[in-house]
Amino acid sequence: MKIMSVNSGSSSIKFKLFEMPSEKVIASGQVDKIGFEDAGFEIEFNGKEFEKTLPIKSHTLGAQLIINGLIEHKIVKDMKEIAAVGHRIVQGGEVFKEHTIVDDKVLQQILDLADMAPLHNKAHVISIKAFREVLPNVPHTVVFDTVFHSTMKEDAFMYAVPYFWYTDHGIRKYGFHGTSHKYVSELTNKILGNKKDSKVIVCHIGNGASISAVRNGVCVDTSMGFTPLDGIPMGTRTGAIDPAILNYIGEKLNLSSAEVYEILNKKSGYLGISGVTSDARELEQSIAEGNKRSKLAFDLQAKRIADYIGSYYVYMEGVDAITFTAGIGANSPRLRKLVCDRLKALGVKIDDKLNEAKAQEISTKDSKVRVFVINTNEEVVIARETLKLIKRKA
Ligand code: AMP
Repeated sequence: MKIMSVNSGSSSIKFKLFEMPSEKVIASGQVDKIGFEDAGFEIEFNGKEFEKTLPIKSHTLGAQLIINGLIEHKIVKDMKEIAAVGHRIVQGGEVFKEHTIVDDKVLQQILDLADMAPLHNKAHVISIKAFREVLPNVPHTVVFDTVFHSTMKEDAFMYAVPYFWYTDHGIRKYGFHGTSHKYVSELTNKILGNKKDSKVIVCHIGNGASISAVRNGVCVDTSMGFTPLDGIPMGTRTGAIDPAILNYIGEKLNLSSAEVYEILNKKSGYLGISGVTSDARELEQSIAEGNKRSKLAFDLQAKRIADYIGSYYVYMEGVDAITFTAGIGANSPRLRKLVCDRLKALGVKIDDKLNEAKAQEISTKDSKVRVFVINTNEEVVIARETLKLIKRKA
């Protein structure tokens, strides 16, 4: 059975087609710059790659292009071969504690949550509608970033603000990157031999970055909060800062709160500190050239990651494994070393050679905590959850 995972933004659609349950990737690709004359379409299968530039006016045309591409390249005979489409959704709020099959009510509920994730949820709904138009006879599912974190207890997810902000306005920590944290923590648990009361910390460090504490397969805390701006510093995002700064700097620089918010999201993190780049590889290059602010950007992030790990160690009363994933976590030995060197108090020791070689396990034999590097796979989680949902429905 073929299941497609879809991850859409306001101007892009990324997809992966899986044979399930074997989880073999049959094809993948993307449409980007939707709405522009020079939009792009890329498709990859059997080691071959095709791409073209053309105007793509809407998500519906993008979805059509993807399905036609699959048929044209004989990846599927006709669209009936696609058994279901799973869509990634960033914000499920408290409404969605489980992934679900799409209907009109579900779409409206996702739109109702758009105030809390304006950049994402609206685009997701536009994309789901587009795919439902193109593939009207297959089930569509929604898989939420927030669901994996919905197991957090009140002491982890509440903010100390007036209580009605929570009850009336949903102000609480939701957490994000849930599908990645689920995939990586499950795989880590498997490597640990599915031990009882396992305590795993996942460091998903990419352009966006978040840490989660997973006890016995269940998320107990995570670093992103009400929005993906919270937690550790990222490519362009601040992570947690003193909220009083917003008001203060707004007055000093004559900026509205929306303008300050934009800077915290888009001009901070690596980019803000280094003044050079938001990209980790470019940052490493700049460090090699002796740029002290670029070094500080990395050091500062590493300290904050270590701080979260320390706090989760205390919260879970120990930790069996720390796993690094995502673009930077899985690919930057420098970042991993910077973090692990700050964890001596927990008895964490890594082997520099294994770290440089990106071995799956980089800790030394006498390390009190095992340290792993695992590539994340959010798309396969979407396909797995979609398969579960359509089986349940059948
Ligand atoms: P993601 O958001 O997970 O796709 O991660 C994107 C980030 O990963 C960017 O900052 C990239 O520069 C970074 N990245 C990718 N490959 C490497 C690498 N080999 N070394 C360091 N950073 C990398």
